[in-house]
Amino acid sequence: MSVKVVKFGGSSLADANQFKKVADIIRSDSERRFVVPSAPGKRFKEDTKVTDMLYSCYELSSAGKDINEEFSKIKERYNGIINDLGIDLSLEKEFNEIEFCFKAKSGRDYAASRGEYLNGIVLAAYLGYTFIDAAEVIFFDDNGSFMLDKTITAIREKTENIENAVIPGFYGMTLNGTIKTFSRGGSDVTGSIVARAVRASIYENWTDVSGFLIADPRIVDNPDVIDTITYKELRELSYMGATVLHEDAIFPVRTAGIPINIRNTNDPTAAGTMIVPEDSGENSSKTTITGIAGKKGFCAINIEKAMMNSEIGFVKKILDILYNNHLSFEHIPSGIDTMSIVLSSAELEGKENLLLSQIRKEVQPDHLEVEHNIALLAVVGRRMYKTRGTAARVFAALAHNRINIKMIDQGSSEMNIIVGIGESDFEQAIRCIYEIFVD
Ligand code: ASP
Repeated sequence: MSVKVVKFGGSSLADANQFKKVADIIRSDSERRFVVPSAPGKRFKEDTKVTDMLYSCYELSSAGKDINEEFSKIKERYNGIINDLGIDLSLEKEFNEIEFCFKAKSGRDYAASRGEYLNGIVLAAYLGYTFIDAAEVIFFDDNGSFMLDKTITAIREKTENIENAVIPGFYGMTLNGTIKTFSRGGSDVTGSIVARAVRASIYENWTDVSGFLIADPRIVDNPDVIDTITYKELRELSYMGATVLHEDAIFPVRTAGIPINIRNTNDPTAAGTMIVPEDSGENSSKTTITGIAGKKGFCAINIEKAMMNSEIGFVKKILDILYNNHLSFEHIPSGIDTMSIVLSSAELEGKENLLLSQIRKEVQPDHLEVEHNIALLAVVGRRMYKTRGTAARVFAALAHNRINIKMIDQGSSEMNIIVGIGESDFEQAIRCIYEIFVD
């Protein structure tokens, strides 16, 4: 029988009512055997996530201040859930131990990890599942790097004879015995690792949206959900700012070819988004493009020099200058006698004058300037390379909306078209491309 790993985010476990929805989802499918919970998230917009409460509580404690009031609020969150669910469970022993460790300065990561740890105990008790402490199965080396092989072996050994278990997300243990967390949102990563270890047929990631949207809903009204996306496309869109899933959540399942299904706890019948290794063709989406994403805050260093294209080593000299200044760039579109380096403005800050003077000295350009306030926009779609006219449609849409294109880049995979435009055109550009392909 195949196994499913299900991860539930903080908003899916914010209160007892959400816990009940989660339990219904898990119980409705006997293949959902391994559960990875986050810490309780926000119950309403102005609410505070338990993880953030733990961080601030630990800060107080490290500054030698009294944590009674803050810590009681954290206890209340869990006790509220336990009481409303009506389960026979007391976390007093755990609370005392955590308070003691806070005072003994057990570390920020330790503090934050307790959100998932306690939530895991509550969820396991509610479901009647075995609780497996992530500190026993998720490992980091002494430099803090995640140890995949050791972790996979440990999870396999531990779960071998267990039918159902809850393994808290977000943290693990270093070889010297201290608790370490992944970066924020890291329960997604734990879910992916567990899925790989138990050879899951699917990794279901339950959150509060019905999947990835084709475009940012703050820009496009009510955008469609992406039904299927490949890992590669997801990487392109995430890089350009689309967020739902932690970036590092891809790699553990990707090599094993396990699909990820993004689902909505508040709308469990919605199919959500399937993230698959390759497009098998059978679940091909309706539209040529898969998604549109973008970011503001870029600039372009434009360099012009007659006969640049025949000058051997010209680009190398420029790249050396970037390297020596520890600058990474996004794109280098080039013409016969021109090249531009597109990079994030934040990256260039404080280094602009030095960089320009080094370029002047090294390559003696005829013209050199920095153009600020550029936005990059990526139109991503695996079906693009088989479809004629995609670029034409993108550019026509921009032209009809009087949007000036500053840069065009199409990766060799022919899976995305990236355009650079002025920041003030950003929202309109996304809307008009969405309209032409989706609406
Ligand atoms: N609770 C952690 C956070 O808020 C980890 C997670 O939810 O994935 O970042």
